[in-house]
Amino acid sequence: MLNAKLALATNSEHQTVVKLSPAVAFGGRELVIIGGPCTVESQWQMETVATRLKAAPLQALRGGVYKPRTSPYSFQGLGIEGVEILSQVRSHYQIPVVTEVMSIAQIESIATSVDMLQVGSRNMQNFDLLKALGKVKKPVLLKRGLAATIEEFVMAAEYILSHGNSQVVLCERGIRSFDNYTRNVLDLGAVAALKQLTHLPVIVDPSHAVGKRELVTPLAKAAVAAGADGLIIECHPEPEKSVSDARQALSLEDMVKLVDSLRPLAAVVGREIVGSPNISHLAIAPR
Ligand code: PEP
Ligand code: MN
Repeated sequence: MLNAKLALATNSEHQTVVKLSPAVAFGGRELVIIGGPCTVESQWQMETVATRLKAAPLQALRGGVYKPRTSPYSFQGLGIEGVEILSQVRSHYQIPVVTEVMSIAQIESIATSVDMLQVGSRNMQNFDLLKALGKVKKPVLLKRGLAATIEEFVMAAEYILSHGNSQVVLCERGIRSFDNYTRNVLDLGAVAALKQLTHLPVIVDPSHAVGKRELVTPLAKAAVAAGADGLIIECHPEPEKSVSDARQALSLEDMVKLVDSLRPLAAVVGREIVGSPNISHLAIAPR
């Protein structure tokens, strides 16, 4: 494929494992499930998510603090205040956190406070950003561009790898097509292809792919069946009140149910979800 050198699988045995913490790694037998709101809105919101979902169990939390919004008039994220919320939740709940970085200037302040840097779809071919992330010693979650070919996606990963960072996880999040009933079209063929073509872990974001909460669970299951190494899913303590992507946000109860429903399926495809649900953790933090 084109002139990718570092991203391609040279033999079927070699699989890169990307560690988020001593206990959480992408690319092994375990499925990594990341959950949380589209946008970090408040300390209460993130603590509620962590309290309810660490026990689900989720392996990592997500939440955007710099948001790539279609309209410049929409809420753009809490910025550095949001980074502080993520950092507190991460240390208090001992759970890894993932957030999006939109520009080179944001890397330094975010990288020390989180466990994984997300490159959003709209930045998949921001080559200067990719080069800069190649120099960072943090795992990168690279999301597929809205209309990127598989080849362009692999070459974007190659930018990060060739600038020195081998800790890259690919994320299929749906691509644009003619139908607008769903927000995008989840390309599970790409998941299977990327697993064969590259040695990098591949995860799936069914939330942005489908855009409707009632369709997230079936697509999450399909992703696991297709060989995904993990999932990233949007959920919120009060889904209808989400400042962004409300229509696709699961309630925390539905997120717990989703994780549970994946267990038997994971076992069928030789994977597992580490940890058993711990209901003693289910008390919600006061607002
Ligand atoms: C997100 O994860 O909230 C996001 C903006 O995703 P994407 O870049 O895939 O649209
Ligand atoms: Mn979102």
